Amino acid sequence: MNGSQGPRQKNTTRAATWAAELSQAISSPEKLKRAGFCARVNAEEMTQIKENFDILIPSSFQTHLNLPDSLRRQVEPSREELIFYPEELEDPIGDEAHSPLRGLTHRYPDRVLVKLTHLCGIYCRFCFRRYKVSQGGHQLNRQDLTAIVKYVQEHPAIWEVVLTGGDPFILPDPVLLRALEALRTCSSVRVIRFHTRIPTALPSRITPELVQMMRGLMEASERFPHPCRFWVAAHINAPEELAEDTRAALGRLVDGGIPVIGQSVLLKGVNDSSEALTNLLRGLVQNRVKPYYLHYPDLAQGTEHFRVPLEEAINLYASLRGRLSGLCLPQFILDIPGGKGKIPLQPENLRRSKAHAKGGDVWHALSPLTGEWIPIRYPDRFDGSAQSQS
Ligand SMILES: *Cc1c(COP(=O)(O)O)cnc(C)c1O
Ligand code: SF4
Repeated sequence: MNGSQGPRQKNTTRAATWAAELSQAISSPEKLKRAGFCARVNAEEMTQIKENFDILIPSSFQTHLNLPDSLRRQVEPSREELIFYPEELEDPIGDEAHSPLRGLTHRYPDRVLVKLTHLCGIYCRFCFRRYKVSQGGHQLNRQDLTAIVKYVQEHPAIWEVVLTGGDPFILPDPVLLRALEALRTCSSVRVIRFHTRIPTALPSRITPELVQMMRGLMEASERFPHPCRFWVAAHINAPEELAEDTRAALGRLVDGGIPVIGQSVLLKGVNDSSEALTNLLRGLVQNRVKPYYLHYPDLAQGTEHFRVPLEEAINLYASLRGRLSGLCLPQFILDIPGGKGKIPLQPENLRRSKAHAKGGDVWHALSPLTGEWIPIRYPDRFDGSAQSQS
């Protein structure tokens, strides 16, 4: 092997691998049918579905008839997508209302969302940004990026940039590098978080070169006087997604010094059982991914068939509390429609009692182990009892 040319050849091969894989993904109604998907969908419905939201099923999700339901349901277009309920919204979490610039959403003071692209490595049928994601086109150009950097510099409260989309890792290395270098010049930004589905959609994209590039950009240097950490939030919904190539991709990130957290969406027919969630969340932790959020599906149009009723969902999440270690438990999150913010959905497991005559702050907590309401007393800071020693 030729020492000086070897690594370059290897780079080219790796880049070619993920690009070729992507080009072979199922993206047309004809290919879908040939692969045995969508038997119940007629041609007219298919056209309508595709008009609403593109189709893209990468090879890691393509094992045809062997595909478990948990994977199939996430990617297979269905006629239920054509049913819109009045409660469902085009922009369910109000991204547009809080977008001062193309590609930027600023809803919380200390962090912004930046959408470098609207393309992904897979199109999830439940996508809550389906009105924007896919459908070709949008990619931020140099002027957009310059405007975003200027905006962030003018808002020094911004500590974190969340790259979402679309999927930031669908961009080729040089494009991503340019965007990251630009964002690195924002001196208040200490964390750049990548929201991505690539570790399951297209694990070969997480090349050692990509990890190396990210590593090189984190440290403080003459060019970037402030350090900035990269975090990856990997979107993974079913335990079956943690196949060998995905586990390896996650491992490359963590080994490269990039912490990975997990984001999942609670989806009917995919992961809506204690068992599926247990396997998923434990699987993540076993692969050094800390479960961060479990999302209740946003009210995106044509996604009702993925929603478990909210009360049932809260009970399901509550059932995990007694079962799983704190390390495995994500926060269960609901994004209030219209951009009103995310809230953790606390299961109804804590009640406060009325103050007792003798003072004291009494709560009742529902034991996840026995199902009993257990009284817990805390000192009442205002009744003066803290002064007496016994
Ligand atoms: C979800 C979201 C974030 C990130 O929120 P975290 O709770 O920090 O994960 C930031 N900006 C917007 C607009 C969001 O919707
Ligand atoms: S990867 Fe994310 S943004 Fe892309 S289609 Fe799936 S849910 Fe939507």
